Amino acid sequence: MLPLLVANWKMHKTKAEALAFIDELRRLWPDRPACEVAIAPPFTALDAVGGALRGSPIALAAQNVHEDEEGAFTGEIAARFLADLGCRYVIVGHSERRSRFGETDERIGRKLQAVIGHGMTPIWCVGESLREREAGRVLKVVGRQLAGGLGAVAPARLSWGETPPLVIAYEPVWAIGTGRIAAPRQVQEVHAVVRQWLRDRLGDAAERVRLLYGGSVTPENVAAMTAQPDVNGALVGGASLDAKQFVLLAQRMARSAASS
Ligand code: PEP
Repeated sequence: MLPLLVANWKMHKTKAEALAFIDELRRLWPDRPACEVAIAPPFTALDAVGGALRGSPIALAAQNVHEDEEGAFTGEIAARFLADLGCRYVIVGHSERRSRFGETDERIGRKLQAVIGHGMTPIWCVGESLREREAGRVLKVVGRQLAGGLGAVAPARLSWGETPPLVIAYEPVWAIGTGRIAAPRQVQEVHAVVRQWLRDRLGDAAERVRLLYGGSVTPENVAAMTAQPDVNGALVGGASLDAKQFVLLAQRMARSAASS
């Protein structure tokens, strides 16, 4: 299973800036990168970036989605619109959505269902706050987020066959955008529990669900993270905004995954 590197650009880059990044990325990109890569630009650049990526192995991702099929939801974007633009992945339940826009596990579960229902793969974010970590509640919090989210996915959709359309990103809230990275050992501990949780529900297919780490990942620390047995890639914010840094990230991640 190739590791997956996802760029979450958040609220950065106009259409012109996004296209300049893709242009530089395609010039710098090694011929056969031993990792899968996805880029999540803002909604306003999705169509242009999707066009610029056509014919390349780099996938298009969205940063958020509305859970309903359509309707009177001013300013929102439905899963079928994202599928229509060629998105392969959709980030769901990012901690910024949870803390700043009040997204609950129940709502996140409905978003997972909408994304899977439209043939895309959610990158489902879970993770604890600093207060929760200091209170020794990491596994409890992550367990609650998993149960709350996947509980909403109909059992029939759990028989996903060979490769489940699901990626889970463990992102400790205290490590996002802070420069404070979790220790690889701490990350592996959580990922092992997530993997077991998946095994209990999906059986062997759980081994094919990619578990990403996110939180202040840079080219300097990515290799130590992806060398962990249950870390199958990274979700990257700040360090994904510069094409040279991003290519370096991909190269180091691929090398570390290949040698571990
Ligand atoms: C993120 O936004 O998902 C993230 C991990 O951000 P950063 O890499 O900047 O910490």
